[in-house]
Amino acid sequence: MARVYNFSAGPAVLPEEVLKEAAAEMLDYRGSGMSVMEMSHRSKVYDKIIKDAEQDLRDLLQIPDNYKVLFLQGGAHMMFAQVPLNLMKNKKAAYIVTGQWAKRAHKEAGMYGEAIKVASSEDKTFSYIPDCSDLEIPEDADYVYICENNTIYGTKFKELPNTKGKILVSDVSSCFLSEPMDVTKYGVIYGGAQKNIGPAGVVIAIIREDLITDDVLPGTPTMLKWKTQADADSLYNTPPCYGIYICGKVFQWLKKQGGLAAMKEYNEKKAAILYDFLDQSKLFKGTVEPASRSLMNVPFVTGSDEMDAKFIKEAAEAGFVNLKGHRSVGGMRASIYNAMPIEGVEKLVEFMKKFEAENA
Ligand SMILES: *Cc1c(COP(=O)(O)O)cnc(C)c1O
Repeated sequence: MARVYNFSAGPAVLPEEVLKEAAAEMLDYRGSGMSVMEMSHRSKVYDKIIKDAEQDLRDLLQIPDNYKVLFLQGGAHMMFAQVPLNLMKNKKAAYIVTGQWAKRAHKEAGMYGEAIKVASSEDKTFSYIPDCSDLEIPEDADYVYICENNTIYGTKFKELPNTKGKILVSDVSSCFLSEPMDVTKYGVIYGGAQKNIGPAGVVIAIIREDLITDDVLPGTPTMLKWKTQADADSLYNTPPCYGIYICGKVFQWLKKQGGLAAMKEYNEKKAAILYDFLDQSKLFKGTVEPASRSLMNVPFVTGSDEMDAKFIKEAAEAGFVNLKGHRSVGGMRASIYNAMPIEGVEKLVEFMKKFEAENA
């Protein structure tokens, strides 16, 4: 068995310990005589799995009691629609567009009401986070929307926008559980699991209770109404059972690592190794304004498409895979999520140094 260093942006690397545990439990989950994939979502055994997962997530993020945790399906994209369907009472919302995913969310919201772009960083290919301390937020906006970590462009909000008292909705797909968050600053936090938490197929939403109501846009499908899901504790229909089980294992793994404060420290250390190298390299260059750099996704380029391709190919041969940048931007991108060990980044930088020397 040879595991590679997987720098994929998502679906992405998971902790080896979690995969081994899941493998050991594959045929007989703790004396149940069956795999978690084969059991009823209404069984006692499964009920404990989903309840424990929720509790561990609550512990990790210190989620207050007046917030619900929902395990949903449909990817982050389904949330692009669920947010306006459930929140756009005045049919008006403010969107901060800092990348491809925020752009998609903004466009989707436009189908249901007035989605106003109050800030954007598209003028410089989304390479920075705009100043959001004093934006013009309409008086009757239902919420302010951000994508907190921009997976494709490698930027992250270091400070939350001043929403002028409006509800903040945040897509945290690619920075979920990478560092502590103050949940009370948000109305809705959500993320697809496949970046930093677990397998594709699960979306986790943390929603302030007063935002979960029957007052949704007319025609909202039953399944997309948060109240349906909240009233049934995410078991209105069959949830992505196996995915939730793996997420639960990752939560336990995170607790064992010391929780989110410890992860933040580890992630900062990891990212610094790569950024420090990029800052002094003569061949490779980071593409993001330093103040907006993400700890999770690190895009970089050589300045030549041929050299980029050569690097990606030789890196893959050396066991560093999925370093190709997103198809919309090209170049390289190293995603260094929670489960990427520090050795992976150290060895990647060693390889980059060697490549630079050979191609000077
Ligand atoms: C990957 C990603 C998405 C899209 O996720 P899907 O689950 O494929 O819908 C949305 N937002 C962010 C920040 C992402 O990283």
